[in-house]
Amino acid sequence: MRVGTVKEIKNHEYRVGLTPESARELVANGHEVWVEAGAGLGIGATDADYADAGAKIVATAAEIFAECEMVVKVKEPQAGERAMLREGQILYTYLHLAPDPEQTADLVASGVTAIAYETVTGTGGSLPLLKPMSQVAGRMSIQAGATALEKANGGRGVLLGGVPGVLPARVMVLGGGVVGFNAAQMAVGLGADVTILDRSPEVLERLGIHFESRAKTRFANSSNIRQMLCEAELVIGAVLVPGAAAPKLVTREMLSCMKPGAVLVDVAIDQGGCFETSRATTHENPTYTVDGIVHYCVANMPGAVARTSTYALNNVTLPHALEIANKGWKAALKADPHLANGLNVHAGKVTYEAVARELGYDH
Ligand code: NAD
Repeated sequence: MRVGTVKEIKNHEYRVGLTPESARELVANGHEVWVEAGAGLGIGATDADYADAGAKIVATAAEIFAECEMVVKVKEPQAGERAMLREGQILYTYLHLAPDPEQTADLVASGVTAIAYETVTGTGGSLPLLKPMSQVAGRMSIQAGATALEKANGGRGVLLGGVPGVLPARVMVLGGGVVGFNAAQMAVGLGADVTILDRSPEVLERLGIHFESRAKTRFANSSNIRQMLCEAELVIGAVLVPGAAAPKLVTREMLSCMKPGAVLVDVAIDQGGCFETSRATTHENPTYTVDGIVHYCVANMPGAVARTSTYALNNVTLPHALEIANKGWKAALKADPHLANGLNVHAGKVTYEAVARELGYDH
């Protein structure tokens, strides 16, 4: 199969669909790989790196969309890219169609076969192609929080790990799923005093077994949240209620008990945020202050570490890309029901039930 990857054109998107190493694996499996010139520069991969892996470098995205049977990307195709998609072509990327009727209509009209990373499932209902980005965001949240705590950045002026003779900072992690677990790992590693709150007994038990005495766990009722909030220097918002907006667990009124210069990092901002005072920010201007409390609410945190994020993403997307290329998409989806759950649009129809229902398509 001829597989192509293009330079991402969404604002400030530096990741790329295929690393040179992934291109090399596709080539080793007997496929042709076409890469748009400069596609990997955002992760420090040059055209020479791709050429060395056996890929062909082409000048424009238009050639890739015109000639490749499968296009592997990171972000949903932008309007100009959607205009180049064609019937019978496979698009393999993050799509997030439910809140995006315009994109959905264009994909339907194009006749493309669109497989969305975010709906490919794993065992136990997990979403393995989303997980690495949650791992990245969770780990980054502590770096971001530590930076925001610095005095020059408006923070309280505390070091997460303290020093001998000075207590470490108190870090409260709200939600102990993938983001919360990874945040707690980083905070524990830095020597902070970490407490993770969740409402799921299974999650609390798993965290307790993993962290033992290195982090505390606590049930996330409103009394415990309020009490921990008043004591914390850094609070990480990491809750998720699947398919719903994040619950607002911290109201503006509750900020009044917090220490001046304490920091809230709302990783759940892409689902509306779990602090009432959260509003989405960007990497250029990541923080703002409300009632003396610094807020960091960047909606696409993994974009800042594009190289790590691209490699983490390729680790989980490449095996499926290889299956699709080796077997053809129909046989690959038939052989793997988890991959089949990724099919969102095919031959002018929305094939993913939740998206069809949300946007009023027949299913
Ligand atoms: P997850 O499903 O693995 O974990 C969510 C956890 O929240 C679960 O353990 C659940 O029990 C807990 N929870 C739900 N309701 C709760 C409540 N009321 N109180 C306490 N805990 C509660 O999800 P995840 O992968 O960790 O993702 C968390 C959030 O981070 C999601 O909104 C996700 O979209 C977001 N995210 C953001 C970025 C970014 O760049 N900002 C990147 C990746 C993920």
